[in-house]
Amino acid sequence: MAKALPPTLPDDDEWITALTKSLVFGDRFLVPAFSQTVNNLIVDNVLGNAGHLAMSPPFFTATKYAFENLPVNHTIHEFFLEVHCRYWEVESCSEERTVYETRQMQVPSTLLVEMMVRFACKATEGTAWRNVPLDGCLYHMHADDEERKQCEIDQRGDPSI
Ligand SMILES: [Zn+2]
Repeated sequence: MAKALPPTLPDDDEWITALTKSLVFGDRFLVPAFSQTVNNLIVDNVLGNAGHLAMSPPFFTATKYAFENLPVNHTIHEFFLEVHCRYWEVESCSEERTVYETRQMQVPSTLLVEMMVRFACKATEGTAWRNVPLDGCLYHMHADDEERKQCEIDQRGDPSI
């Protein structure tokens, strides 16, 4: 069941949290078209056009809510995991404060373990992956292959796909 943050902890991104709560609502009440729209809105709001980041993480309030309230295989889990591993920038001078603040968020241990392993895997691949834009369609919900193809064309503006 949903767990609310203690009132003393600020939401790190109220818009993404509101969308994530809407996504959970759509999932819980089995409204697939609504869930699809909200899921894709989250992805598009964060990634912006052509996979270029429009909103920077962390989105730990939303991510925590998603991990606690959506099925483990939900596409938004993978999206939040990838976005945090790829785009969360912490400067070394603020490392201690960031650790403290992140611990206060009480992020699920499953998310932290997945982030550590994902980041460790990516770290062995060098740093080039950080500059490759994410493909939003990997994290969108599409009704069928035809819709996916059209979405990819819309995302890239490339009719040859
Ligand atoms: Zn798509």
